[in-house]
Amino acid sequence: MQHLTSKSLPQTIISVLKECLPADRPTIGLHEPCFEGNEWRYVKDCLDTGWVSSVGQYVDRFENHLAEFTGVPRAVAVVNGTAGLHIALKLACVEAGDEVLVPALSFVAAANAVAYAGAIPHFVDSGMETLGVDAEKLGGWLNEISVNRNGECYNKLTGRRIKALIALHVFGHPADLDALSECCQRFHLELIEDAAEALGSFYKKKHVGNWGKFSVLSFNGNKIVTTSGGGAILTHDEKLATLAKHLTTTAKLPHAWAFNHDLLGYNYRLPNLNAALGCAQMEQLPQFLERKRALAERYEKAFVDTPGLRFFKEPKFAKSNYWLNALVLDTDYRDQRNEILASAHQNGILLRPVWTLLNKLPMFQNCPSMELPVAQDLEQSLINLPSSASL
Ligand SMILES: *Cc1c(COP(=O)(O)O)cnc(C)c1O
Repeated sequence: MQHLTSKSLPQTIISVLKECLPADRPTIGLHEPCFEGNEWRYVKDCLDTGWVSSVGQYVDRFENHLAEFTGVPRAVAVVNGTAGLHIALKLACVEAGDEVLVPALSFVAAANAVAYAGAIPHFVDSGMETLGVDAEKLGGWLNEISVNRNGECYNKLTGRRIKALIALHVFGHPADLDALSECCQRFHLELIEDAAEALGSFYKKKHVGNWGKFSVLSFNGNKIVTTSGGGAILTHDEKLATLAKHLTTTAKLPHAWAFNHDLLGYNYRLPNLNAALGCAQMEQLPQFLERKRALAERYEKAFVDTPGLRFFKEPKFAKSNYWLNALVLDTDYRDQRNEILASAHQNGILLRPVWTLLNKLPMFQNCPSMELPVAQDLEQSLINLPSSASL
């Protein structure tokens, strides 16, 4: 391709994107839902039978489908991914005043959930190969600042216990789960996988979500499958799964009429109407994955000769769902990022930058943090491309 000789980088990117994307749409969003299966049938069934709310067969069906697909034995459907993270932290015994390690390069939900649990996010850096938490660097940091007291990890600088790590699979690309598991074991930390973006992603041939004590999925409207809003907690532990179900359904004791609750519970259950949508979407997940991987391949080929950037490819140990495709700008081209975003938007192609680093947000700016050179680099250089399965 001859692009950059005569065109600026923003112009080049737009013409490459136009080659890859349908020409007949006025605007192309970042990630749009795709309803081509039994959605109407299942939702209508809820309306026809009156089972729209807190109980109904679709919730069980949806949970079973998730467990079967991921290979994690138990799935508990909840109202959204953030609520799932909140409960996962509670059940991992994160207590008020603890610290929880969270990548600075993450969606705000993880840090919010830590705060809902009364704990404090402690921000850690990412790695260039996975975009997820860099296990080696984390190990070095914990060696430096933590101390083992009676088999628990304490931050020497703050005096607080460090209880868990929330590892995110960024844009669906698996983090290095073996290395992160090993690091968590070494420092007596619970591992929670934020797999909100990673349904359909595999690490060394096994679905993500199988390494954490808990893993959390999201079915928000922009995710690979949607229930409009929704989420799920995955776990290998039967007892904890039962407790997760209990806690997310107001901790009500089963009885024909009496209202008794034995714990401070939450109304976090996923309504049957949403689960019906989820069942129809899960039936189409294999097709969505195929189409999304084909789109990623198209982008990769189209951008191969474009100087100034690279297309982000799945780590070598992974088979990713390519939930969001991404370009990484070279150092010398980062100052053009906003220009690239602006001219793409003018052309109806709704590119997006990555999240603002969580340690910069006003409510988290005084939280503990390691040095974040890679996260800072990525914050400046990542651009997400339209990634809907319908493309
Ligand atoms: C979508 C998402 C969540 C959960 O979001 P909800 O909207 O609460 O379902 C959590 N973490 C990440 C990284 C996400 O992308």
